[in-house]
Amino acid sequence: MAFEGLTERLQNAMKKLRGKGKVSEADLRATMREIRLALLEADVNFQVVREFVKTVEQRAKGAKVLEGLNPSQQIVKIVDEELTKTMGEAAVPLNKAPKIPTIIMMAGLQGAGKTTTVGKLALKLKNEQNARPLLIADDVYRPAAIEQLQTVGQQIDVPVFQLGTDVDPVEIAKRGLEQAKTNHNDYVIIDTAGRLQIDEKLMGELGNIKAAVHPNEILLVIDAMTGQNAVATAEGFDKVLDVTGVVLTKLDGDTRGGAALSIRAVTGKPIKFVGQGEKMADLDVFHPDRMASRILGMGDMLSLIEKTQKEYDQKQAEELSEKIKENTFDFNDFLDQLDQIQKMGPLDEIMKMIPGMANNPALQNVNMNPKDMDHLKAIIYSMTEQERTDPDVMNPSRRRRIARGSGRPIQEVNRMIKQFGQMKTMMNKVSKGNMSGMENMMNQ
Ligand code: GDP
Repeated sequence: MAFEGLTERLQNAMKKLRGKGKVSEADLRATMREIRLALLEADVNFQVVREFVKTVEQRAKGAKVLEGLNPSQQIVKIVDEELTKTMGEAAVPLNKAPKIPTIIMMAGLQGAGKTTTVGKLALKLKNEQNARPLLIADDVYRPAAIEQLQTVGQQIDVPVFQLGTDVDPVEIAKRGLEQAKTNHNDYVIIDTAGRLQIDEKLMGELGNIKAAVHPNEILLVIDAMTGQNAVATAEGFDKVLDVTGVVLTKLDGDTRGGAALSIRAVTGKPIKFVGQGEKMADLDVFHPDRMASRILGMGDMLSLIEKTQKEYDQKQAEELSEKIKENTFDFNDFLDQLDQIQKMGPLDEIMKMIPGMANNPALQNVNMNPKDMDHLKAIIYSMTEQERTDPDVMNPSRRRRIARGSGRPIQEVNRMIKQFGQMKTMMNKVSKGNMSGMENMMNQ
């Protein structure tokens, strides 16, 4: 899972301060040393790490954190804020042309996920802005690149402009743009060629395409799994193209975190989107603050709620977040969520967004495959209405009856009820957004 090692090490580093009424300078230094090592091990750029550690340490000292109440909570807060800053503070929206079409050019190494991202972005624009994008197949070198883009276009029902592989890419881009103007498409997304490494000829060609169509947005697609290399790649492309934003792909994989944490600081270019799966719907706006919480293992409740909102109606989502806050989330709501989640896609991704889930040892052995979900549902179906709404009534004889009714072993029923209780407590703590909630989670 993404950031797993980093999350664990950061949590361990800060856990040691917990319970100390007073934190000495030596304690702080030791913690900062561990944070530094955690970041370096996650393949974060050396300079970025140095700057980060320096700032956190200075702030901790400057704010007289060491003498204040709950020093460890305050340090967690500073680390969270500085991680956010390192990644860019706030989400940066797509550039928009004053007059249609807005021209978006995609660049990146082969295999980074460019073609996939072209499709994902088109679908996002279509769904969220009712946009009518045109995709331009401008990768004339990679075998089957055009067919791949056409398949993507068909999948999301968006037209693809192509002139085969024998026409100069600059010409293809220009003619595609003309067609978009004629047809009043509001966005043009150009899928360009990639190579395995940066090479001069390719860069020259990308530069020519840029000069010919003057894109409003040049998005560099970077594979998050490539760590430090991602940063070198970004610098190489940026030098020639002066990109306007970055899309970080494959954040659903087990990336260590280096790319996410270094790119903005090194290149000064904002990460605008993150790819979190192979499906067309798996593209999300990048929110530095939410990513920081996720890296710290504090979950990403907001993204989860947003994702839920997308999948079903807003009212239900609001009710859900209200219930979490009020601590009245019951088994009926859980059942509802299981249904929604099954529609949403890879469960481990979803679970990771729930605060405390990623690193809660009690939940490590939950194997979340679709069959397990069905078993969970069967257990809830075997509960009476009273048991669903008031889980506290669950005594041993009720549990045995539920096990018989659902055909699941009693141990599984017990485990599920226990985990439900833990999940509920954690969601409630975090939804209140108080530091003690965060602190408790850090200490799970
Ligand atoms: P291109 O050569 O840059 O155009 O890369 P492609 O779009 O062909 O993608 C290369 C591979 O990465 C494909 O197998 C994609 O399905 C996969 N891919 C792209 N984005 C993501 C992502 O966010 N997550 C995962 N897991 N795979 C991705």
